[in-house]
Amino acid sequence: MPRSSPSNTNIALRNLPSVDQLLATEIGRDIAAAAGEGHAVKLARLVLSELRAVIRADEGAAIKRDLRAVGAADLEKAWTAEKLGGMHRVINATGVVIHTNLGRAPLSDAARRAVSDEAAGYCTLEYDLATGKRGRRGGRAEDLIIELTGAEDALFVNNCAAAAFFVLTVFAGGGEVVISRGELVEIGGDFRVPDVLSQSGAILREVGTTNRTKLADYQRAINKNTRVILRVHPSNYRIVGFTAMPSLSEMAALSRKSKVLFYEDIGSGAVIDLANAGLADEPVVSHSIAAGVDVVSFSGDKLLGGPQAGIIAGRKSIIEKLRKHPLYRALRVSKMVYAGLEATLEAFRRGSAFAEVPVLQMLALSPDEMAQRVERFAARLRKELSEICDLKSDILDGTSAIGGGAAPAVELKTKLIALSHRSVSTTQLEERLRNSSPPVIVRIAGDKALIDLRTVSSHEIDELIAAVVALA
Ligand SMILES: *Cc1c(COP(=O)(O)O)cnc(C)c1O
Repeated sequence: MPRSSPSNTNIALRNLPSVDQLLATEIGRDIAAAAGEGHAVKLARLVLSELRAVIRADEGAAIKRDLRAVGAADLEKAWTAEKLGGMHRVINATGVVIHTNLGRAPLSDAARRAVSDEAAGYCTLEYDLATGKRGRRGGRAEDLIIELTGAEDALFVNNCAAAAFFVLTVFAGGGEVVISRGELVEIGGDFRVPDVLSQSGAILREVGTTNRTKLADYQRAINKNTRVILRVHPSNYRIVGFTAMPSLSEMAALSRKSKVLFYEDIGSGAVIDLANAGLADEPVVSHSIAAGVDVVSFSGDKLLGGPQAGIIAGRKSIIEKLRKHPLYRALRVSKMVYAGLEATLEAFRRGSAFAEVPVLQMLALSPDEMAQRVERFAARLRKELSEICDLKSDILDGTSAIGGGAAPAVELKTKLIALSHRSVSTTQLEERLRNSSPPVIVRIAGDKALIDLRTVSSHEIDELIAAVVALA
């Protein structure tokens, strides 16, 4: 142990580089070029004040180090950490298809092209090329929803939570909303049906029980203050066993007779029947419209596989009232969202959504197709890794999750690549994959890091192989 000496501390402090000296280093110049002189100065000051604290704490032991080099290295670390915080493309190897933390639905090629090539610059957002006059904002995307769902009219807002808040504020504010006790759900932390209702100024009238609600329960609750009968797709959980709910058409008949609005929050929003992807239970938007629901809302970036949006569809008079409401101006979507939605919805209209929209492609991958993918991947890994390396990869049976609060009871059978290493821990494997470029996000189960290829696209395979080989 070096003898503690205050003078050593003072000498080390005097040896610290100045802010200007740090800015003159290569990394200092890089930061100034990327983030501006002011930000480079701020980071250099931060690094120096932390170094000062270290020197005081180690009582001058730092005197033995090249403090200019240490300062530059710290500056580089601070800059790297800051850059990690932004938006970055990642490889989702978790197998969770609609991964909320990883941006939910990856866009189709056509939707990506529409966003960057058609909408990013000047575009026809509110301009009609046929007449040279002002056009209907989002008109084409609205028409596609009308065509696909059979609704009379449609409208887009920022997300499905905004859609529910908007519909309830405009049509139920100050009045009562009748809803089954089985549908007072929480969907992903900050969307709780009772909270949305109270925020919109509506009074909640819960009816029935958690597992069984009858038409007569709704009927009894309706009074002169009732504005809306609300039905919510419970999305991320299921009640099974002794359950009952009236049909949509029975509820539609009751709402017509009682002259109150019938609104359904469908959430995940299948615009086509997804039974052949194993999602037979997901409510289909056109079925609700056909059953007589006045207005529905659903997400653009769950089972629709497009950009984040809330889609409202229903009777013309209702949608028109929403479109003219001042809140619409605050909730409407951007030109980039319209472009992505148009391209995504066109794939549905062509009948090729399962071939083109990544979310549906991934959901539809059969156990055989997953096995083939994994075999091909494992064969390539074997070729690139030496026989005697410390990284081991096994193939396991497993399940992928749909995620995004959709179809919780559905488990998609998959094959997993399980990675383990003789001298590197599983959490370190996970961290190293996360820090590769591009970052690879995996699941951990027990002592294995798991790769599920369901959510990895074919053009990401080379990058994924490189990231895994680098672990050996
Ligand atoms: C997911 C979901 C929402 C919230 O949708 P966002 O697009 O995330 O805002 C609302 N209601 C239901 C029924 C949902 O499933």
